[in-house]
Amino acid sequence: MEWSRSDTLALARQSCAHCHGLGLRINSRGQSGPCNCVLRAIFRACYARFRYCVTKEKHMSRTSPELIPGREGKLVWGRKDEEYVADFCLVSRRHLTDFEYKIFKYHFLLGADWKLCTRKLGIDRGNFFHAVYRIEQKLGRVFRELEPYGLFPIDEYFHGQRKPIQPAARTPQQENRRTGLRLLERTA
Ligand SMILES: [Zn+2]
Repeated sequence: MEWSRSDTLALARQSCAHCHGLGLRINSRGQSGPCNCVLRAIFRACYARFRYCVTKEKHMSRTSPELIPGREGKLVWGRKDEEYVADFCLVSRRHLTDFEYKIFKYHFLLGADWKLCTRKLGIDRGNFFHAVYRIEQKLGRVFRELEPYGLFPIDEYFHGQRKPIQPAARTPQQENRRTGLRLLERTA
């Protein structure tokens, strides 16, 4: 995917020392790409939406299924909030290393703070925050670049035409959804 200034400008951090609020950087090979501040902003927007979906699902009756494109071109009844929660977990599991996924699970899904995570994982505070930044940047890029439809822009996910992301072999979507639902039960 080619990143343009229109993709990044609104997401860039104005005070960013690397891109100065433009959101684009030139890498060591002379190619232009998104600044890490943009990738982190994308991740945080998706994560906020994930949390919103999890909370909403817990507190609202589930009575409004939508007709969405399913496998093999069929239309199936589904709920996009549920899909978003499942895709968020599924895509993250697939793109993170085992170590990164442990941090992702404890910190983002279960809401553990840095003290708990560092104790549980036997790493120091610096390494923990480095890993969190790396995870946010990695997933921010994946959520935006994922083919055929990414988790970002969120409006396109919820209102555009898209196909569900196929789960990896023997990774049940239900399991990922349950992981997501445990988030606020633990932190509430
Ligand atoms: Zn930046």
